[in-house]
Amino acid sequence: MTENPNFVPVVIVGAGPTGITAATKLAQYGVDCLVLDRWEDVYPQPRAVHLDDEIYRLLAGLGIADEFAAISRPARGLQLRDRNARVIAEFRRECAESANGFPQANMFDQPELEALLRANLKRYPHAVLRGNAEVTEAVQIGADRVQVTFTDRVSGEEHRVETRYLLGCDGANSLVRTAIGACMEDLKFQQRWLVVDVATTAELNQWEGVHQVCDPHRAATYMRIGDTRYRWEFRLLPDETADDYNTMAALYPLIRPWVEGIAPEQLELVRVGEYTFRAQVANHWRRDNIFILGDAAHLTPPFIGQGLCAGLRDAMNLAWKLAGVVNGWLPESVLDTYEQERMPHARYMIRFALAMGTAMTAGGEAGNLLRRVVVPRLDLIPGVREKIVDSTTPALHNSELVMKSPGRRQLAGRLCPNPVLLDGKRLDAVVGATFAVITSALLNPSQQDEMTRRGAVVVTAHPGTELSLWLQAGRARAAVVRPDRTVMCAGRDVAEVCRAVPVFAPPADTGADA
Ligand SMILES: Cc1cc2nc3c(=O)[nH]c(=O)nc-3n(C[C@H](O)[C@H](O)[C@H](O)COP(=O)(O)OP(=O)(O)OC[C@H]3O[C@@H](n4cnc5c(N)ncnc54)[C@H](O)[C@@H]3O)c2cc1C
Repeated sequence: MTENPNFVPVVIVGAGPTGITAATKLAQYGVDCLVLDRWEDVYPQPRAVHLDDEIYRLLAGLGIADEFAAISRPARGLQLRDRNARVIAEFRRECAESANGFPQANMFDQPELEALLRANLKRYPHAVLRGNAEVTEAVQIGADRVQVTFTDRVSGEEHRVETRYLLGCDGANSLVRTAIGACMEDLKFQQRWLVVDVATTAELNQWEGVHQVCDPHRAATYMRIGDTRYRWEFRLLPDETADDYNTMAALYPLIRPWVEGIAPEQLELVRVGEYTFRAQVANHWRRDNIFILGDAAHLTPPFIGQGLCAGLRDAMNLAWKLAGVVNGWLPESVLDTYEQERMPHARYMIRFALAMGTAMTAGGEAGNLLRRVVVPRLDLIPGVREKIVDSTTPALHNSELVMKSPGRRQLAGRLCPNPVLLDGKRLDAVVGATFAVITSALLNPSQQDEMTRRGAVVVTAHPGTELSLWLQAGRARAAVVRPDRTVMCAGRDVAEVCRAVPVFAPPADTGADA
């Protein structure tokens, strides 16, 4: 594809993590897409520092698991501390692989991850990223045409490109969101925080996990994000700004509990910034052929480190459906399932972040007292400790592509596990980018042929294996797993489960070196 086409099946506004993920997935399915971003390079300021095992699994599907492993480190859980840095409670997390095949909590530096994502995109000739392209207008001009206008910020020239689908991955101040007439619903949360990144070769000798300071006066978070990189976030007092802390001398009193004994000269201030954390969800995520994803569709305070994760989930959820429609495998109606599935999930995660923030820091002195008394005794309430460190996110709501049957132990809407199979390969590597039927019963030859015709991979859940136990726990003998690894449906009647599999026949991986 050229950099200046007149028509591209999919145009993506924004080359942040959400836009690049969507482009990579589409390109893997052989769908031509053009990504436009106003800047040439990755946004250099560190923002996200944490992602969970579900997202690590998604990165593996993009082809960058090993590269991400090289720039990230697993975190050991969460410590709640009082204002004097005394530990109130510790919630340990296993750094070993979860059911998704990766550590549950992973610390990293967002610009490094974005650089990886961009380098990886270059492997796919179906995707073109054009920097210095400021999108100024997006309009639906026909039943299945959208016109995108952008200005080349170097030459000043204005360009137009037509597309069948436009994805607005253009961040918090999204122009595409405005273009579809959506507005942000405010979930009534706004706080100003100081975000501090420090580099040092000195060893801080701190517990290797997230430290949450439960102080309503000065809530704070500390985490190690790399061999020599550390992140602090402090809630700003009403009369403070980030400028009050932009030297190490001014900042030192705030970070002293973690750097005691280390001379300020050994600590390099990478940056000090002020962010207003908000909780907002756009009231609709699609109009006609235009969609919004990532921060354009939702904003969350980073208390559980899930903003970028939500954007990547959006991209994963929509890309394979869009590829199915563009390639003529799936009906257009499946595109409605994007908002039906993703909006309630994003809303839940934002409310969870708000609840965690409130539980850890609200309530003044009374809240402090309650935390000192209650939190160390959480072990007495069965299941609570596990819940706090469990990275599993909720099941997707019912849709044309999530068919829950009545009953409690639902597999549908949740991710299937990603175990190592008897041949030594992980499930995801065996299934690739298509549908799978996981079954504890052997399919008869005609069922097997039909699954092959529909492009689905059949995986046998041998007795006693993780997959077999997983099916049993869901009271099922077979499950249909979508390309994004969400279970579409599950049940005891294997023939009925097989009938639900749609025709979906992607090429293996259309990367240049695939
Ligand atoms: C302090 C802080 C800490 C955070 N911590 C975490 C964390 O630990 N874990 C986590 O998951 N998330 C975290 N987040 C959130 C995370 O950084 C964002 O959710 C994520 O960057 C959103 O990605 P995006 O691609 O949707 O949007 P963005 O990263 O904002 O990218 C949008 C892109 O669109 C481009 N663009 C915008 N308008 C136009 C236009 N008109 N024309 C062309 N291009 C345009 C921009 O240049 C940009 O490249 C944190 C955020 C902050 C601020």
